[in-house]
Amino acid sequence: MPASCGTWYTKTMSSPPWIQDLARALTSPGELRRFFSLTGEEEGYFASSPEPDADGAGLSLRIPSYYLNLCTDSPDDPLRRQCVPRRQEFEQRPWEQDDPLHEESHTPRPRLIHRYRDRALFLATDTCAMYCRHCFRRHFTGKRQGGATREEIILAAAYAGATPSLREIILSGGDPLTLHNEDLETLLSTFREARPDLVFRVASRVPVVLPGRITPELSRLLRRWAPLVVVTQFNHPREITPQSTQAVESLVDSGIPLFNQTVLLRGVNDHPDTLEELFQGLVARRVTPYYLFQGDLAPGTAHFRVPLGEAMEIFRCLRMRLSGIALPVFAVDLPQGGGKIPLYPESLSRKEPGWYHLQSLDGRWFRYPDEAPS
Ligand SMILES: *Cc1c(COP(=O)(O)O)cnc(C)c1O
Repeated sequence: MPASCGTWYTKTMSSPPWIQDLARALTSPGELRRFFSLTGEEEGYFASSPEPDADGAGLSLRIPSYYLNLCTDSPDDPLRRQCVPRRQEFEQRPWEQDDPLHEESHTPRPRLIHRYRDRALFLATDTCAMYCRHCFRRHFTGKRQGGATREEIILAAAYAGATPSLREIILSGGDPLTLHNEDLETLLSTFREARPDLVFRVASRVPVVLPGRITPELSRLLRRWAPLVVVTQFNHPREITPQSTQAVESLVDSGIPLFNQTVLLRGVNDHPDTLEELFQGLVARRVTPYYLFQGDLAPGTAHFRVPLGEAMEIFRCLRMRLSGIALPVFAVDLPQGGGKIPLYPESLSRKEPGWYHLQSLDGRWFRYPDEAPS
């Protein structure tokens, strides 16, 4: 285990409350059973992977107590579905791949994914405040590698320095806002020194799952590195609470633009009424809905995917109901590394039995399965 992890979340009297909250997060099946009466499907996960955090099989379990307390004991609760594992996570469909977006083939430096000409994504850490059960980067996330090393950061920054077409660095992972302020500052300053003109995009679910982490100090820190925007992930209206509202408003009031990416998820938000309420609620809190994503073909996530035709119907309703500033772009990241494309009803025309054919922005054709409803 690298020296940079393992000690991070130890409880000490002097550490800020958010670190103590993370240290207290639920991570074991035993604790989960004390909180929920687990269904057969949920127990089935632990039968396949008794200690998900220890043996590396499956995606780690971590639920901060703040998020846990938003869940109800109903097995169909949309928040519970996002954080409590199910047996289906060990089922793999033929078209599901460990690295569904072929990120490894676009990795010029360790942890740096450069797929699009003007922007690249840096895997700042593999740690998250909560491990979302629908995670598409589950082959990397929560594997206890911890934060990027000093050397990895220097190599990635040097690459940005030597690649003039790059204009933007997306800090992702894992969740970069689980890093301590000093480590975050080192990361931002190293990239900025190599390229003073870079725009930063911080991709984080922390405002939604651990809003106490968004302290005034953190907002000020992020503001100092402008131009910097934060992209978060609200998936359900019940995630909009007084605490998460305070977190996003603190960032916006500090001068940081806020965007949101929602993942379309079966049993969570697969209804136009739910998404309408979500997107309007975000706009009212000064967060701009940016993307609505069709589920990626990551292993063990079929139970979360909405069949593409049905997804398009949901989006068509939203287009009729929502203001332009409340309507995100509906997009899919094409399998086999085809990249992100916006989806329109016309996109779904060329079809063979069982498959949609979708064209990437550079004109190549990719197949996306027409899955049976799960
Ligand atoms: C999604 C993504 C981006 C950002 O794409 P936008 O359309 O600008 O949001 C950049 N790099 C990688 C590797 C991505 O997956």
